[in-house]
Amino acid sequence: MDINIKQYSLNELEELFKKLNIEKYRGRQVFQWLWQKNTRDFMEMTNLSIALRKNLSARYVIRDLRLLKNIGTSDGVQKFLWELEDRDLIESVFIPEPPRRTICVSTQVGCPLGCLFCATGLIGFKRNLKGFEIAAQIQRAQEFIGEKMTNIVFMGMGEPLLNIENLFVALEIVTSSIGLGISQRHITISTSGIIEGMEKLLNSKWKVKLAISLNFVDQAVREKYMPVAKNNPLKEILHLARLYSEKKEMVTFEYVLIRGLNDKPDDARRLIRLLKGFPSKINLISYNEYPELPYQAPEPERILEFQKILFDSEHPVTLRKSKGKEILAGCGQLVARP
Ligand code: SF4
Repeated sequence: MDINIKQYSLNELEELFKKLNIEKYRGRQVFQWLWQKNTRDFMEMTNLSIALRKNLSARYVIRDLRLLKNIGTSDGVQKFLWELEDRDLIESVFIPEPPRRTICVSTQVGCPLGCLFCATGLIGFKRNLKGFEIAAQIQRAQEFIGEKMTNIVFMGMGEPLLNIENLFVALEIVTSSIGLGISQRHITISTSGIIEGMEKLLNSKWKVKLAISLNFVDQAVREKYMPVAKNNPLKEILHLARLYSEKKEMVTFEYVLIRGLNDKPDDARRLIRLLKGFPSKINLISYNEYPELPYQAPEPERILEFQKILFDSEHPVTLRKSKGKEILAGCGQLVARP
């Protein structure tokens, strides 16, 4: 009786209904009620017979993420702390930049990769999120904000490409016209560069945007600060990124500027050399400091100097305005503590 029907993908619902000797298309109707109409009571599913609604109520429950806490900033950023069915905690962040409404969602409870400069890495890894838990962050935030999200970034807690099968399930829910109805063109997956996951994404039907968290242009330095780089060499990452740009969408390289580590003019020039002839964008992000970590953001002049050198390159360069860092909602600051 205590089975959460929301855990099933559209295919699984259709199969489940077939097994229960209920017409397959009813699975589609229930999916639409759950995800597009955000219904929490089977009795409200008015295009199902009363008998079926009662049957479903007897077998299943409809359970969502529980909002434990939300805090906001004066510029409208909101950080949500969600409790999952097993009481694990995750966070997502809503970033309003009119006309865009972006939500940054988590794909894992914690993160196994332990990048030295990232607070999420400090809490270790607990488990992968299921597809519906990933999508539900968007649905619940929309409900709370009272408006539909225009953009989704998979850039919260965890490495999305280490949970790629569930990420694909979430993408089905998010992009479906009877689900959350958000276009693939407005979805970005951010990865630290997982070769196997990049290959799977490249060979999948999905044409979402891909952002690679590059941060260091030298393989050995990258390995030092991002241990995942040991098994995922930069050379292969760049090769796959190039294929992705050619076959799907132009890749963005994210470069988090950290004082004294990667913010020198020479680092900027090496970055230009590394990406020479490579159709891609560069997104600079000033490091978001975290009390338990020893790293610092560069001086503003340093960032401008770095940016100016890149402006002379062939790549479009943006400097991402860090929003939400005062409530520890910035990139690399999510630790899901109550
Ligand atoms: S930067 Fe991303 S991949 Fe690295 S530890 Fe943090 S969440 Fe994980």
